[in-house]
Amino acid sequence: MYIGSVRFYKHIIYAVLIALILLAVYGLVQVGNLVVNKHQGTPEESGGFSQAVTEGQEDENKDLEPSLPDADTANEPPEKEAEAPDEKPQQHDVTVQEEEADPIEEEWVLDFVQSRIKYQSLYPELHNELPEIQEHKPKTVYLTFDDGPSERTDEVLDILKERNIKATFFIVTQNNNLDILKRIAEEGHTIGIHSHTHEYKEIYSSVEAFLDDFSTCYNKIYEAAGVRPQIFRFPGGSINAYNRGTYQEIISEMLRRGFLYYDWNISTQDTDKYANKERVLESVKAGFADQNSIIVLCHDNRNKHHTVQALSAIIDFFEEQGYTFEKLDNTVEPIVFAYPT
Ligand code: ZN
Repeated sequence: MYIGSVRFYKHIIYAVLIALILLAVYGLVQVGNLVVNKHQGTPEESGGFSQAVTEGQEDENKDLEPSLPDADTANEPPEKEAEAPDEKPQQHDVTVQEEEADPIEEEWVLDFVQSRIKYQSLYPELHNELPEIQEHKPKTVYLTFDDGPSERTDEVLDILKERNIKATFFIVTQNNNLDILKRIAEEGHTIGIHSHTHEYKEIYSSVEAFLDDFSTCYNKIYEAAGVRPQIFRFPGGSINAYNRGTYQEIISEMLRRGFLYYDWNISTQDTDKYANKERVLESVKAGFADQNSIIVLCHDNRNKHHTVQALSAIIDFFEEQGYTFEKLDNTVEPIVFAYPT
């Protein structure tokens, strides 16, 4: 008989053993799945991990990706915690956060690079090869006239001719009488760029806006005088109330293109409401401090009769001090305002 025989009991033992082996294999598979899921960081497999990402991700990203633009929203205490070696996240946490952070960083970097390339490729003709810049000659004055040409330009040129002095004119090309630029160039003065519109809010709104205005001014000067300007003066000076957010990028781009800019170290204050011949001369004397190299700011405007009236006296003053007059060009070491600290 099979039931109750030795064979019968043997088969029962085999069946039980097979069942135990199958159970063991199933158990191993389940444990294996658990381990794999944990390494992939599936949030539902680890409530604690999910919480760690929420609370600590920004701080840890700050360590990993210091250039992320939104990383500065992290508050202080967790940042300090993250710096301690004991508090470093486990390896799988780091991997997950890098994977999440990369697309954000790439997007930001891409936008930044594309915006740079965009304005760097604008107006390719606006590019100079810079010559070697010479050290300042001792006791030299550079007279500069901004905002012209105007009804006063001929009068300024007549005085300069009579005194045999070369000067520098930073031109606003939106003005009407650009024909006089020919005379400025023929008489050996330097023509530099000031602006086409001289509208602070417009030209300093972005690097592109500045380049757009600069390019118009550059082309109009070339059309009027056959001269390609190589230097410029920022309207309002290189650092003013309108360009705080853009001046560093604009300066960097203009220098990359080989255009030097010149501020001043003595102002005639001829735009002052109460300016007159005497006050203009006094302002020059007040600004004089035995500087080795002096750039004087004057304006060439229709209503600046006082500047023209004071010009001979200004020249006399510097000649009495032993100075000689030169025009600016891009071999002259610039005098520029210091960056605010
Ligand atoms: Zn100006």
